[in-house]
Amino acid sequence: MNRHASSDRADLVARTATIATEVAARHANDVDRDARFPSESFAALREARLLSAAVPRGFGGQGAGMLELGNQCAALAQGCSSSGMVLAMHHIQVACIARHGSDSPYFQKYLRENLVERQELIASITSENGTFGDTRSSICAVEVDGDAMKLDKDATTVSYGAHADAQLVTCRRAADAANSDQVLVLFPKGSYTLEQTGTWDTLGMRGTCSPGARFSGHGKPEQVVPGSFADSSAETMVPYSHILWSALWTGIATDALGRAAACVRGAARRKPGSVPPNAADLARAYVDLQTMRNNWQACAMEFDAMTATDDAAARETLGSMNWALKMNQLKMACSEAAPRLCHQALQIIGILGYKNDTPFSVGRHYRDVLSAALMVSNGRIAGKSASMLLVVKEV
Ligand SMILES: Cc1cc2nc3c(=O)[nH]c(=O)nc-3n(C[C@H](O)[C@H](O)[C@H](O)COP(=O)(O)OP(=O)(O)OC[C@H]3O[C@@H](n4cnc5c(N)ncnc54)[C@H](O)[C@@H]3O)c2cc1C
Repeated sequence: MNRHASSDRADLVARTATIATEVAARHANDVDRDARFPSESFAALREARLLSAAVPRGFGGQGAGMLELGNQCAALAQGCSSSGMVLAMHHIQVACIARHGSDSPYFQKYLRENLVERQELIASITSENGTFGDTRSSICAVEVDGDAMKLDKDATTVSYGAHADAQLVTCRRAADAANSDQVLVLFPKGSYTLEQTGTWDTLGMRGTCSPGARFSGHGKPEQVVPGSFADSSAETMVPYSHILWSALWTGIATDALGRAAACVRGAARRKPGSVPPNAADLARAYVDLQTMRNNWQACAMEFDAMTATDDAAARETLGSMNWALKMNQLKMACSEAAPRLCHQALQIIGILGYKNDTPFSVGRHYRDVLSAALMVSNGRIAGKSASMLLVVKEV
């Protein structure tokens, strides 16, 4: 890697960390209380041109790899979990387009103009009433008729759909295709309507603004991402989701433990020469935080090394059961470690962490990370891993 590329990378994460502290953290409680979109964070990211971090350099983006994107999402989530999650979800959609659509003139133009020049935000509609959380199955189907294309979908959960500039939607390839024969279709603003069908008054991740919605879109066949969703899911959507989510959950746990550490340091200052009794609990918690961080970063580095050259071998590895198991294991490990760490932070801090209005409050962090095991249910993921473990000999 040349010196320019490495300073760019540090800059990307550092600039996001500044936005996390100066903007996202300042509005995080308000975003959570009112279950409103973190518009200040996204105005700042857009202004800093950080929404195109995942767009390849050839199209004018920063071309950040998985490790940089993970560090960026973790940094933002330290200030506001919902902001970190929205940024991660946006990068996942951008990566699907960049990695699977970049040979198409339609998507090339979209990457350059919409994502880089205009810094637009993309939301995702994989959920659907009737498929029960199985992203690899769709009921709705795209209808292509000559030069026209249309799609209707009844989604259970659409994050920041009302605040996004485009929706990337999963559906069956055609009316007569099997439920698992899916494609991704991009609908830029103006080519769809989204009618809210539910509410989003949740325990946590309230700023993601993710109610159910009835989607109806139309356009041209060129808006269908080339190839199958089976491939883009295995090679891109799953690794980007599980690695970037794990990174941002680590960011949330880092902030909760940071509050616990500040609390312990304060107690130490009040009794110079003594080590507060809860300092040892803090030390133990940091062991788990390090494990969590190392886990997602190792997967991110492996992904970056593998995809440095976009060859058939990398695609084969990404499509393998061993890689799928690794991603499932990462997701399950980090989604379960994050609430444990927030719980430990709460025990270390005590009542000042339980209260919602102290510098040591961790209630929001705790509620936010409880979504991690549900966002693609760990039970469902464990079921898929269990089936693979019946046939994979070496894990
Ligand atoms: C913060 C947040 C944001 C989200 N944003 C979006 C978004 O932007 N777009 C979008 O499309 N979706 C989004 N989702 C939805 C999400 O991706 C899942 O589709 C949804 O959470 C799954 O809902 P479920 O728990 O009812 O489903 P299920 O996966 O059906 O799980 C329900 C229960 O059934 C069990 N179960 C189901 N299948 C199996 C199995 N095979 N083996 C064992 N147990 C099983 C599960 O363990 C669980 O107990 C979001 C969710 C959250 C929490």
